[in-house]
Amino acid sequence: MKKISLQRPCPVCNSFKGELLLQKKGLYFDDCILPLAREIVSCSECEFVFCHAEYTLENLSAFYAQYYTYSHSLFRAQKPTWNLYVDRKRPVVESILAHASKDKLNKDMIICDVGSGNGELLSEYLRVGCNKLYGVEPSALENESHDSVSYNLVESDIYEFSLTEKADIITCTHVMEHLLTITNAVQNMRENLDENGLLYIEVPNAEKTDDQIFPVQTCIIEHINLFTPYQLCTLLENNGFSVIEVITCQPDFIPFHLLGVIARKSKEPSGVKIENNFDPQDIPRNATSISYGIDLKIGEFIDSERPVYIWGMTVVMAALWENSGLSKCNVVNVIDKSESKQGKTIGGILVCDPSVLENASPDTAVIVGTLTQADSVVEELKKMNYPGKIVRELF
Ligand SMILES: [Zn+2]
Repeated sequence: MKKISLQRPCPVCNSFKGELLLQKKGLYFDDCILPLAREIVSCSECEFVFCHAEYTLENLSAFYAQYYTYSHSLFRAQKPTWNLYVDRKRPVVESILAHASKDKLNKDMIICDVGSGNGELLSEYLRVGCNKLYGVEPSALENESHDSVSYNLVESDIYEFSLTEKADIITCTHVMEHLLTITNAVQNMRENLDENGLLYIEVPNAEKTDDQIFPVQTCIIEHINLFTPYQLCTLLENNGFSVIEVITCQPDFIPFHLLGVIARKSKEPSGVKIENNFDPQDIPRNATSISYGIDLKIGEFIDSERPVYIWGMTVVMAALWENSGLSKCNVVNVIDKSESKQGKTIGGILVCDPSVLENASPDTAVIVGTLTQADSVVEELKKMNYPGKIVRELF
């Protein structure tokens, strides 16, 4: 592996020495504030795997302020996505509560979700009778709480937040993979936990792969840190936690496996040996396997001149586009109903509203780029008597 000196130090141990695993050109909206091109590197000191590019607190904050809005985001989107997410979280919440202190009833438990979005996860705690709830979100985000969820919103970030009372449980899902620095975030969450309090962290799993699924998180522009079970557990054990349970699962609405770890605040590490199954070469291997399956579905369009439209553009779809045979197709337009995306370009291709398909010829094809909204996209295509080929369930 090629040794390089790093401009972005390791987010876990601050080392400036790394090894290059993979280079990506990157594909997303052309006006994106974050650098698209990046290197995936492994820290020479602690083996943590992360993305290397010119990331700063400024460009990351500006990126999230621009894209993490109600109309723009994958997770903070419409109700179907919300429901899918909450259903998935039900067993996780049960598992966390089962490990929590037995002397407290659910209603007395102080629970804080860091990166609480619109209160998706907190709504599940509320459903099982917990009502001392805090959600931490930076004010830069749009906090459009759904009516049904009531909690104390703490407008702060993961590094700075400070609760007025120590929490029994802190959860932090789909945040750590986005952070510029990690160790200080873990330490601040520990600071806000009561003695013996529980921390649950959930991230995409960089280790898990199989033929059914594309480990696309290695290529998503906003996932700048990659975690394996070994790396996440080691991070927690080195920062005053003892690992209790490792949960892995595969949601059916996003194309990657998830990794969750429940850990208890403790003065001593648990001493539990966590197996390191991670081979740094898995990352380049995973990245090249993304194309598998997608190319089977769009094979007839690859290298042909058939005009293709991609309906629905998210960070996941952009990564699939860049890393599959789709990049060889004749994509004429991207279609998205979100007005905030229309008029932008992605790889030089214009994002339009669905009316661009009026009078489309039968020789064209539409690739449905969203799983959660696929039914409504297909219904809309039928309503407009779209005569071309429709490809859905791309992954
Ligand atoms: Zn390191």
